[in-house]
Amino acid sequence: MKLAVVGAGWAGLAAAVALKSHGATVTVFEAAPLAGGRARRVDDLNMGAIDNGQHLLLGAYTETLALLTQLHPGRPVDALLHRIPLHLESADGDFCLKAANLPAPLHTLWGLLNARGLSWEERWQAIRMVALLKRQRWQAPAMLSVAQLLEQHQQSARLCRRLWIPICLACLNTSTEQACAQLFLNVLRDSLDAPRHHSDMLIPSVDLTALWPQAAADTVTMRYRHIVREICPTATSVSIDGEAFEGCVLATPPYACARILKPSDSSKASDTLLAQLGAFQYRSIATLTLQLEAAWDPPQSILLLNEDPARGRFGQWAFKRPQASDQMCVVMSDAADYLKLERVSFVDCIAAQIREQVQRHPTARRSARPPMPAIRAHRLIVEKRATFAAVPGLQRPSNQSPWPHLSLAGDWTDTGYPAVLEGAVRSGKQAARTLIEALHRSND
Ligand SMILES: Cc1cc2nc3c(=O)[nH]c(=O)nc-3n(C[C@H](O)[C@H](O)[C@H](O)COP(=O)(O)OP(=O)(O)OC[C@H]3O[C@@H](n4cnc5c(N)ncnc54)[C@H](O)[C@@H]3O)c2cc1C
Repeated sequence: MKLAVVGAGWAGLAAAVALKSHGATVTVFEAAPLAGGRARRVDDLNMGAIDNGQHLLLGAYTETLALLTQLHPGRPVDALLHRIPLHLESADGDFCLKAANLPAPLHTLWGLLNARGLSWEERWQAIRMVALLKRQRWQAPAMLSVAQLLEQHQQSARLCRRLWIPICLACLNTSTEQACAQLFLNVLRDSLDAPRHHSDMLIPSVDLTALWPQAAADTVTMRYRHIVREICPTATSVSIDGEAFEGCVLATPPYACARILKPSDSSKASDTLLAQLGAFQYRSIATLTLQLEAAWDPPQSILLLNEDPARGRFGQWAFKRPQASDQMCVVMSDAADYLKLERVSFVDCIAAQIREQVQRHPTARRSARPPMPAIRAHRLIVEKRATFAAVPGLQRPSNQSPWPHLSLAGDWTDTGYPAVLEGAVRSGKQAARTLIEALHRSND
């Protein structure tokens, strides 16, 4: 079988690995010069290998972790990812939720009961909401937003600000007012209503391309720097820029699919698909990677920052990079506007925000933790279309396309997840299965 994949992001490469395991000869077309798509390495002049964006994985990312194990035989997953049992803490230490070393669900229950920075009433509100949602099998009305869900469950403003809003932004990259409650609940269900390790937080300790995309790319024929202009699916094959393939997994973002898909015939199904592709809206994410003058040990590897853009406090999350003890990453959602700000003062503001907030952390006060050292170099990367807006009622296409020899993959397909790595990997694997089954049917 001569098959193609268009797009070497996590979805396309997961599909390529699955197609290869069915004995196909696989060619992957990728516009960029390296593998990984929206989760990839960037080579920086001052800092070496960094990433286009800081990524956080969850223990619930079972398909991604299985792929890592498959592609790095003999190398434990924990050598590639820094694992932190659920621990959300603000940089100033005012808020801290830390899961206990107990079986699920007691680990989160204990964490919520003992959360620092919440009143007893607020801890009870959170526990009651999680228990009720579990009883309702994590189901919400299709058009409900996360803000409405939180209001229905009478979560206080501080509980929302401390806990639910940061989780919603981290997982859905969409404000609680606009975010789809069901997608939010699907993430909570798979991380909290599951074995304890599913709520672990995992930070890559190698660059995102080295994590597994490169190993996947090494098993197939890669055509880097090939911007596909035209995909013409017919009833019997797929032509990619004039070259015929028996089948293809199209794994580019929706806007690129809409641009390059050139069906020879128009049908209700193809019109519906093109309309769905055009309906996605996007949200940005900015990642600022900092090279410090010296190694620094923040209070935790992941810190919640108190955000206040009006005061120049733009950062939302700060990460210690496991690769280098003198590097930090600061993440901001919906941040395209920050590109307009003067760069040096923007970076100074973020450095001041970290110093100011960490200085108030109890460990800084007790043990005289030194402030974050001066910044020697930085790199700001704003991905303008980092994720699709995870709004209620969004019609997401399935992996099956109107043409039997073409299937679709990407975090934007109907995975049940927001735009996350696990959704991309699952959709890639499913798209490969869909294509193989369709090809078997057409050969029978
Ligand atoms: C800054 C940032 C932070 C994020 N943080 C997290 C996080 O913490 N946790 C998490 O789970 N997820 C996170 N995400 C989301 C995650 O990165 C995506 O869900 C995932 O990478 C999407 O993979 P994909 O394969 O579906 O799409 P993509 O990665 O977009 O892959 C599509 C590929 O198609 C290629 N392509 C496009 N057009 C063409 C063409 N015409 N010809 C050939 N190739 C083409 C592109 O170059 C790209 O490589 C983040 C995303 C960003 C940008």
